[in-house]
Amino acid sequence: MTALFTMSDHNANDILFERARAVIPGGVNSPVRAFRAVGGTPRFVQRAQGAYFWDAAGQRYIDYIGSWGPMILGHGHPAVVEAVQRAVTDGFSFGAPTEREIELAEAILALLPSMEMVRLVSSGTEAAMSALRLARGATDRKYIIKFEGCYHGHADALLVKAGSGLATFGNPTSAGVPPEVVQHTLVLEYNNIAQLEEAFTLHGHEIAGLMIEAIAGNMNFVRAGSDFAKRCRELCTQHGALLIFDEVMTGFRVGLHGAQGVLGIRPDLTVLGKVIGGGMPLAAFGGPRAIMEQLAPLGPVYQAGTLSGNPVATACGLATLKEIAKPGFYEALSQKTRSLVEGLKAAAAAEGQPFSADSEGGMFGFFLLNELPQNYAEVMTTDSARFNMLFHGLLERGVYIAPALYEAGFVSAAHSDEDIAATIEAARQIFSKAAP
Ligand code: PLP
Repeated sequence: MTALFTMSDHNANDILFERARAVIPGGVNSPVRAFRAVGGTPRFVQRAQGAYFWDAAGQRYIDYIGSWGPMILGHGHPAVVEAVQRAVTDGFSFGAPTEREIELAEAILALLPSMEMVRLVSSGTEAAMSALRLARGATDRKYIIKFEGCYHGHADALLVKAGSGLATFGNPTSAGVPPEVVQHTLVLEYNNIAQLEEAFTLHGHEIAGLMIEAIAGNMNFVRAGSDFAKRCRELCTQHGALLIFDEVMTGFRVGLHGAQGVLGIRPDLTVLGKVIGGGMPLAAFGGPRAIMEQLAPLGPVYQAGTLSGNPVATACGLATLKEIAKPGFYEALSQKTRSLVEGLKAAAAAEGQPFSADSEGGMFGFFLLNELPQNYAEVMTTDSARFNMLFHGLLERGVYIAPALYEAGFVSAAHSDEDIAATIEAARQIFSKAAP
C-alpha cells in the first residue's frame, strides 16, 4: 500500500497526477477536473471542511466549486454528517423502497409546486435523459429543442453543442454519438426569440419538449431574459410541447424554489441534481401526475436504477434540504454571494480591467468582458489567456475557482466575510499586475 503524503510534500499533487494518469484516462474521472483548459496540475483533495479543502500538499483553498454545486452548506455540515452516519449504520443499499424516499419526495414537492410527482435517480445525466424519454413518450413526438451552451449531462441525444467541459475542449459533439441519434435535437441560440419562434413554426407539431437551463451555469453564468423565458413557455403550451427546466445546477441553489421561482415560470418537467443530494449521488425529475404516471411500472415509458433512491444519499439530501429551508437561509447566502461579486467588480474597476459579473442565490459568474454576455457565442469572446492568469493567480493565493472560464461559481453558507474579503484582495493583487 502506498503511504499517505505528509504536509511537507510540496509536489504531492504532481506525484498523484502522474500515478492517476497511468490508470485513469487523463488522470481524472470527469474531464474538467484535469486542468486542461488552464494548464498545470490538478489539486488532489485530501479533506474538506466548511468553505475550505486541503490538497495533497497540505495547502488550504477557499472552495468556490463545492463539488460543482452540491455543497451549499459547505463541507462536512454537522447535521448532514450525523444523518449520513446514522443512515449508513442501517445499511447502505437495499434495492427495495424505504420511507426516506417518500420523505425526500415530499420535501421536494413541497418546495417546487410545478411538480406533483418525482422520481429519484443517481445523476443529473440520468435525470435529464429520463426526462427527455418521458417527454417523447408522453407526447409521442421525436423532436427536442436545446440551446447552445446549455449542458444537460452526457446522454447521447443531449450531447450537442453543450457547454462547460465540451466547450473547453472545443468539441461541440462527442465521438461515439452517431448523427442519427442527434438528428431530432434542434440546437438554438440562447436568448434568441426569433430563432425560437422559427423553430416552432417549422416543427411545432413534432416537438416533444424544450429543455433549458433557465439560468445557465455551463457557459459560465448567463440568465435567460424574462421575455425569452416567457416565450419558451408560451410556445410550448401553444404547440403541445413540454417545457423542461434543467435545474440540476439551479435547483435549491439560486433560491428555495429554483430558477422557476426566480423567473416565475411553471415548467412541465423539472430536472434536479446536485444540492438535492447534498454531495451524494442523487438526482431527480418530476412534473404533473398525468405525465409522471406514464413511467414504468404504471405506464409505457421505461426507467429504472439499481441505486435509485439510495438510503444514504436520501439521508444526505434530506438533511441538506432541512437546513436550506430554514428562514433567512437564501437571504444570507445571496447577500454573501453579492458581496463577493460586487467586491470583484470594484477591484477590477479600480485597476481598469474589463469585468462583468452576476449572481443569484449562491451561484455566480464573472467575465473578463465589459458587458454580461447573453449567449454562448458572446461568452466565447472572453480572452482565455487572461482568465488563465487570473485562475492561477487565485490558486497560488489559496482561492479555488473553476479551472475553465465556462463554469459558474458557487458560494456556500460556510463562506465567511473574511473568506470573501480575502478572495477580493487576491483578485485585486492579480488585476493590479495585469495589463489593462
Ligand atoms: N444538467 C446540468 C444543468 C448540469 O449542470 C449537469 C452537471 O453539471 C448535469 C445536467 C449533469 O449532471 P451529472 O454530472 O450529475 O450527471
